Amino acid sequence: MRFVVQRHRARRLHYDLRLEMGGVLVSWAVPKGPTLDPGARLLAVHVADHGLAELELEGVVGSGDKIVWDRGTWTPAKTDDPPRAVTEGELHFDLDGEKLAGRFVLIRRDPKNWLLVHKNDEHAVRGWDPEAFPRSVLSGRTNEEVAAGIAGA
Ligand code: MN
Repeated sequence: MRFVVQRHRARRLHYDLRLEMGGVLVSWAVPKGPTLDPGARLLAVHVADHGLAELELEGVVGSGDKIVWDRGTWTPAKTDDPPRAVTEGELHFDLDGEKLAGRFVLIRRDPKNWLLVHKNDEHAVRGWDPEAFPRSVLSGRTNEEVAAGIAGA
């Protein structure tokens, strides 16, 4: 199944992590952005499911802009029923993207707020900062270039 992470400059910068599940993209907004750092425990706000068009969507949206910051495939772990794992509030999964890789866990803390962590596996990198890799994997553009109307490569 496919996943996408968009870097979205809205009222506040955040990254939207979206996992393809049952014909939609189940989504979390991660203010600090996903990381390979196994020491990070990141807030991930569960938001509404989005349509599959988001897999390739970048551009100016409303008063903000978004880029396809990473994409690839994901595989559920420890479950053969990912929607149920989401309902139960704990989803383990592996990402195989261009930036992100390895085992992640999303754990629900309350109905809206989840924690996103990267396990300390062979893909873990201490101190890894998503903001150090600001370009779209789709077009090579930054958010600033998208906002300025610069065409993709
Ligand atoms: Mn967003």
